[in-house]
Amino acid sequence: MSAAPASTATSPPIPARYYPAGGDAHGHAARLSWQDGALHVTVDDLPALTVSAARLRVEARGFNHSQWALNWAGDGHDAPHLLIVDDAVAAPLRAVMPGHFTGGDRQRRGSRHRFGLGVGLLVLLPLLFVAALLLSLDPLTDRVVSHIPPEVERHIGEAVLARTRLEGPLIEAGPAHEALQTIGRRLARPDEALQFHLAERPEINAFAAPGGVVVVNSGLMARAASAEEVAGVLAHEIAHVELRHSLRQIVRSAGLRVIVAALFGDFGALGGGAAQMGELKFSRDAEREADRRALERLAEARIAPHGLLDFFRTLSSLEGGQGTLPALFSTHPANAERIAWIESALARQAPTTVQPLGINWSSIRQIADNASQEKGTRNPKE
Ligand SMILES: [Zn+2]
Repeated sequence: MSAAPASTATSPPIPARYYPAGGDAHGHAARLSWQDGALHVTVDDLPALTVSAARLRVEARGFNHSQWALNWAGDGHDAPHLLIVDDAVAAPLRAVMPGHFTGGDRQRRGSRHRFGLGVGLLVLLPLLFVAALLLSLDPLTDRVVSHIPPEVERHIGEAVLARTRLEGPLIEAGPAHEALQTIGRRLARPDEALQFHLAERPEINAFAAPGGVVVVNSGLMARAASAEEVAGVLAHEIAHVELRHSLRQIVRSAGLRVIVAALFGDFGALGGGAAQMGELKFSRDAEREADRRALERLAEARIAPHGLLDFFRTLSSLEGGQGTLPALFSTHPANAERIAWIESALARQAPTTVQPLGINWSSIRQIADNASQEKGTRNPKE
């Protein structure tokens, strides 16, 4: 395919929404034009961008795939640059790079039969949601959650990640990042698309968003006594994803707003709805179930399962000795009952052969501690 001649320049400019790589979740109004085989992106208050056709990936997006996501890799960011273009105005782009749209067109055709289901879901969800509010019946929340397709979960996860980036830097390279990836890889099952992100924050906290996005604070890495303790926390957070606990809580608290936003690929609304991800509280039963699954997963990954218990002991000792509670403590109470329950579950578990994680933890701790201190928000009494 040769470069499109200048005469195929599109006019007038095509409206779009631009989400910079690693940038804010709300996006910017943008205008697109095509000239000399490249896409020109004009955004208010931001420098203009030129992206060659070869770098662009085009995917069908949004409710009933009525939008197109044009993305290209951002330097040093996991998330690509993203442009959202409505199908109604995409014709000039289709004309200049038809090959880019063929995969998405196949997806759109395939989704047509799901359109009825989507509309049904939109009509049904409000009814179910109102009913859930009125009756506060858990089975209804379960019903709604069981109808949420995996791509909605992934959209929520992406929005949570975009939001997390806005709130502070992520550590995306170096030994502490690598250590987290090593632990995460050992824990993930072959068919699981889990992402592990390290946030540069002093608070002892970790959380998991729908779609398998797990975020760990450097403060938690700095306080964990071993890589196995971090593995225990990660296994617990993964269990919350697996059991769709976060999704349930989002449906219960933000409800329909988030689900509809996800169906429409509305990242702005999603980011707002998912803002309190790190503060979601689960029931005691949900916590116990997540602990149980975490111990199973640790054994399966041949990681010493005591890490989970050890970490909760570390948390409870912090509670006794200091004025401020770890952030994780408010959502994961490390009380005597929980510790006793994990102890007895560990005692019941069949012994496993353990393969060490092979991480020099004292050096990782030091690096994570430095990253946390650089934020300058540590309690001076510590
Ligand atoms: Zn939990």
